[in-house]
Amino acid sequence: MPYPLSEVQQEMQGVVRAFARNEVMPGAAERDRTGEFPADLVRRLGELDAMGICLPERFGGLGLDSQTQLLAIEQVAYADAALASIYTAHFLALEVILGYASEEQKERFLPAMADGTALGAFALTEPDSGSDIGGMATSARRHGEAWSLSGGKTFISNAADAGVIVVFAKTDPGAGFRGISAFVVDPQAEGISFSAPQDKCGIRSAATYSVFFDDLRLEDDRVIGDLGAGGKMALSALNGARIDIAAMANGIAMRALDLAEGFATSRVQFGSKIRDFQAIQLMLGEMDAEVEVARLTAWWAAAEKDAGRDLRRAGSIAKFVASENCFSVVDKAVQIHGGAGFMRESEIERLYRDARVLRIFEGTSQIQLMTIAGVLASTYDRLGALA
Ligand SMILES: Cc1cc2nc3c(=O)[nH]c(=O)nc-3n(C[C@H](O)[C@H](O)[C@H](O)COP(=O)(O)OP(=O)(O)OC[C@H]3O[C@@H](n4cnc5c(N)ncnc54)[C@H](O)[C@@H]3O)c2cc1C
Repeated sequence: MPYPLSEVQQEMQGVVRAFARNEVMPGAAERDRTGEFPADLVRRLGELDAMGICLPERFGGLGLDSQTQLLAIEQVAYADAALASIYTAHFLALEVILGYASEEQKERFLPAMADGTALGAFALTEPDSGSDIGGMATSARRHGEAWSLSGGKTFISNAADAGVIVVFAKTDPGAGFRGISAFVVDPQAEGISFSAPQDKCGIRSAATYSVFFDDLRLEDDRVIGDLGAGGKMALSALNGARIDIAAMANGIAMRALDLAEGFATSRVQFGSKIRDFQAIQLMLGEMDAEVEVARLTAWWAAAEKDAGRDLRRAGSIAKFVASENCFSVVDKAVQIHGGAGFMRESEIERLYRDARVLRIFEGTSQIQLMTIAGVLASTYDRLGALA
């Protein structure tokens, strides 16, 4: 377990922490109110070399380990969960291109993604195909020398603000999950359009869109990996990126714990700080344990990722534990704030709305548990793994 942190990890954590506290946190409440997409903050993440932390240096990245990326995400999420959602959606798109694109495609797309000039988006979900990705209807049909993409996606983070969109579509509509292929799409291309940003309960400045494809022409150099392998790529990229969502959850949970601790030490009832009441201490103690367990679980999964191990189980455990623990921590933090925690003017009220999505996107908690159970039933040897 790489704990305590290396010098390089601490340095990256410090750079992102300073940015998050000084530049991100001050405007987070206002962006939540307006829903305005923080394009300037995304650009700043690029300037800080924080958009390609794990990318090899030859593609413009820093070539660092996965835990360092988690540390950066935690800091961003601590300041603004919405910016962390934009950031993690970018990493999800990167995961597909880095994992499966040709060398030529990597050279073409990754440097701009690493320097923040091309934000990534990942377009899988459709109105009638969420957890069941094999049911997607968007199709890419062969027309002469090129592909024609038609259909629509929904809830796509970053889509209209992106420089690169990874789109999944059926190239063999009769083949279900095995008929899905992946494409790199230019958001400015003719034949693609976007809805207005969708109005959401939380992470409100992390815009999501419906995306429409109407006979969008794609050359063969836009196909990622093998035809028909897109379903596997999507799931594998999600396994790898779920640890980023865990880090986002952990950053939000740490902020909630700090807010609760601060409130409990200043709020006086019955002549005492409420921090002195055992009922409050029990909540704070449980919150701290929930945060620590979730961080260690995410870092374990990051080490598994860097060791090249199968991430289905570790990625799902990390995402499940961190998102469920985060929601529990934020809920207790609201409880400690009493009525003040229910008011729009309090930061914890925003965190309560922001945290809810963690148990839904990049695979719901139910899907994580089913994935874990599936691995348990097939290949996992618990005693062997512990030996
Ligand atoms: C803010 C936000 C941002 C998003 N960003 C993106 C993005 O960038 N790209 C993208 O592609 N998608 C994105 N999504 C979509 C997200 O990944 C899906 O919402 C999620 O995967 C769940 O799919 P669904 O909403 O269709 O729910 P459904 O799949 O319809 O699920 C509904 C309920 O049924 C349960 N369920 C479904 N199947 C089973 C089963 N077999 N067994 C037990 N329970 C089951 C689910 O757990 C859930 O409780 C985003 C969503 C949100 C809210």
